[in-house]
Amino acid sequence: MDQTVSDACGLERHISSISFWQAVSAGGFKSGEDPLRMILHCDLDYFFAQCEELSNPGLSTKPLVICAYSGRTEDSGVVSTANYVARKLRVNSGLPIIQAKKILEGSNATYLPIDRPRYESISDRVMAIFSAHVGIVEKASIDEAYLDITEQVQLDLTEGRNLAQSLKRDIRREEGLSCSIGLGASKVVAKIASGFVKPDGLTIVPSYQSAEFLSPLPVDKLPGIGKKTQERLRGMHLETIGDLAKSNIQYITAAFGKKMGTYFHLASRGMDKDPVRPRLGPEQLSRIVTLKENSRDTDMISLELEDLAQDLHAKALKHGLQFRSVGIIAVLENLVAKTRTKTLDQPNSSIDIIRGSSTELLRTLLEETDLQIRRVGIQLSNLTPTTGQTFLAEFMERPPSTP
Ligand SMILES: [Mg+2]
Repeated sequence: MDQTVSDACGLERHISSISFWQAVSAGGFKSGEDPLRMILHCDLDYFFAQCEELSNPGLSTKPLVICAYSGRTEDSGVVSTANYVARKLRVNSGLPIIQAKKILEGSNATYLPIDRPRYESISDRVMAIFSAHVGIVEKASIDEAYLDITEQVQLDLTEGRNLAQSLKRDIRREEGLSCSIGLGASKVVAKIASGFVKPDGLTIVPSYQSAEFLSPLPVDKLPGIGKKTQERLRGMHLETIGDLAKSNIQYITAAFGKKMGTYFHLASRGMDKDPVRPRLGPEQLSRIVTLKENSRDTDMISLELEDLAQDLHAKALKHGLQFRSVGIIAVLENLVAKTRTKTLDQPNSSIDIIRGSSTELLRTLLEETDLQIRRVGIQLSNLTPTTGQTFLAEFMERPPSTP
């Protein structure tokens, strides 16, 4: 595996010895300031295409294009995701399929339609790996999540890096997928950091280096700034995030309005207060607990599963949701997370199915390892509303977050 561990601004030297706390006590922390946070943004690399390469490894050496067909004519639509072989030839997301085919003519490229249900199951299992390691997980999209690891690693950069590496290792080992992770003191910084080295990257930005890291990057790297806004900013001689950070807030607010102006002003300095909102998306409900002691005793673990089954069943009822998949999450004594999922023939809402499937999956999982279980959880996924669409719409409603 070719893993790049980069540190924006060449800061590897800080990682081994300085933690956030030490930096804070050395640098002086003004009372009244926001407490520091440590956030990971995890992004699965070229996700749809990587899922297809998994089931057919022969595809990975040739250009592979996952197409969002519009259905009008055979080739109308755009590229949804391309693998890196195709990206090297400048075939990227959003390119019309017809143009992609012209560019890739004679290159033995493969074109596949989007297989969303399959990508969603894989995504659910990856999100379960995140929740097995970290308490606060916000699924941002099918292939992205924010994780708040502040308390878990006590703001220690080395611990943060180790946790990020365990996540990468487990996702690789369990699902065969690579991902890129960014670590920063806000969601904005973490998100930009995860895109800094791709694929299979890990980029760590210590909080006191946020502004320095962002400064040289073009403004469109900030979430919420697209091509149009970038053009307008260019017209105002603001090319980089650093230019934006140095500019007068009144000047920006006058041009973009108070809400956007304030966001640009703060985000360009890496200051983004948006919390990581524990949320695994409307596609799944899950809960995980730590056992009182590590165990392989199915009776003892089943007692915990019973509690979890009741809790999740109540939640599914409350939200008017049925599930088609039941999964079990187990973190073993060596802290490796394992997940096993069973997909049912029909959507279901029975607690007996949750009980039966989770116990069965627990036995299967124990047969596959000699290690003891440290944490155990259940996940219900492939959720659909029991009646009508109203419930799901309600369930999907979420507070506004960073653009
Ligand atoms: Mg991605």
